[in-house]
Amino acid sequence: MHKIDIDLVEMTLDVMKYTIDRISNVTPELGAPKKEEDLYKIIGETITPKGIGGEVAFKMFRDTLVKATVPIDHPRHLAFVPAAPTRAAIMFDLVTSASSIHGAYWMEGAGGIFCENQAMKWLVSLTGLPESAFGVFTSGGTAANLSALVAARGAWRKKDPTNNGVRALLMTSNGAHSSVQAMAKVMDADVVLIDCPDENLRGKVLQEAIDGLEEKDRKRLFAVVATGGTTNAGIIDELDSVAAVCEREDVWFHVDAAYGGGALAAPSVRHLFKGIEKADSITIDPHKWLFSPYDCGAVIYKDMEVAADAHSQKGAYLEIFKDEGAQGFNPSDYQIQLTRRLRGLPLWFSLAMHGTDKYRDAIERGIELAKIAEKKIQENELLEMVRPASLSVVLFRRKGWKAEDYRDWTYKNHKEGIALVTPTKWRGENGVETISRFCFINPDTTEEDIDIILETMK
Ligand SMILES: *Cc1c(COP(=O)(O)O)cnc(C)c1O
Repeated sequence: MHKIDIDLVEMTLDVMKYTIDRISNVTPELGAPKKEEDLYKIIGETITPKGIGGEVAFKMFRDTLVKATVPIDHPRHLAFVPAAPTRAAIMFDLVTSASSIHGAYWMEGAGGIFCENQAMKWLVSLTGLPESAFGVFTSGGTAANLSALVAARGAWRKKDPTNNGVRALLMTSNGAHSSVQAMAKVMDADVVLIDCPDENLRGKVLQEAIDGLEEKDRKRLFAVVATGGTTNAGIIDELDSVAAVCEREDVWFHVDAAYGGGALAAPSVRHLFKGIEKADSITIDPHKWLFSPYDCGAVIYKDMEVAADAHSQKGAYLEIFKDEGAQGFNPSDYQIQLTRRLRGLPLWFSLAMHGTDKYRDAIERGIELAKIAEKKIQENELLEMVRPASLSVVLFRRKGWKAEDYRDWTYKNHKEGIALVTPTKWRGENGVETISRFCFINPDTTEEDIDIILETMK
């Protein structure tokens, strides 16, 4: 399978040509999903005893299958949380694969882990956490949140062994990402969801909620999860007052900044994160607002020892990895995964190449685009803002539209290849309302792109 023959050379050239073309194309075709049976009709069986050949398989991908996907970096893809990986990061993702290296242990991954750690050092410096803090790259925000919460629960049980075997409970707000509740389920922990009408958790409300717990539940409380930029609205919880309550109540303070974390590098909004420097752990997704290819998350801990207590794996065959000469930083000790891709490498290379100023500017541009969109919406008599733009998220309504109108508009724009903008829900004075939402990430989105989309709302 690995012998070099003509087929392999051609396949390699095909792949390199495609890759170069794709990363040079800043407005890729806005593909759309197809039904599985329809794809099957076109493609048929691809896994056969003899193989169908690289040329045929690649052609299927290039001409059909990739067109049934949505390129997340399209400048008018403003749905969910889009992405815009840098060319340098994408190229280095290829290099990471081509190098066949892995990043569980320093013994095998030293050079790569060194690079990851340089990028991590910058990330940690953005948080303002003390010297002792550090982190590791994960597969995404979900894995980072899970890793942090498992560490939190471990610390809670270690602190008070009578908590061993006690079902743990965490508190968060309705602005929290769905993955927080999903990961609590994985951990078999309970969640108390604090209902904040404006999706903004503050210390006062948190304190009231804690005071309102029954004594047996208060004893089960091991962590509070605040959000550093809600996915829906870009709202940053009042981290400072939440931190103060966590400190007073002696519970773990986790900040989920999977989406918003990139904005720690943006001076114009950095003050909104005041209090994040008091966190016990923080989640940041470089594959969201730090221009890394999928997938790349990060979990940062104030105290790495606590994380190691929870995650370090022991096994006879793993012992040699920790032998003399291989001593160093082992990423597998601090999150849920053992064998791992060095997923921080693309971020490292891109940061090293461009410098952190470029990152700052690209993130500021996302915030600026949200302000520009806000102004255009305010000037358009058919439209109105639902709340002020926050980070790079804009929530607005088309006067007179109902949920079906937003849905039809989304489908039409997507089908015609104009844009992907999906509606969301917001609870206001008139109850829960379907509205429109932009989330800007790609710094190459232009004012004209915004105009093109708003024009379709006439
Ligand atoms: C996206 C997101 C997550 C989940 O991260 P994945 O990388 O998709 O696993 C968690 N929390 C917040 C706030 C998010 O925006």
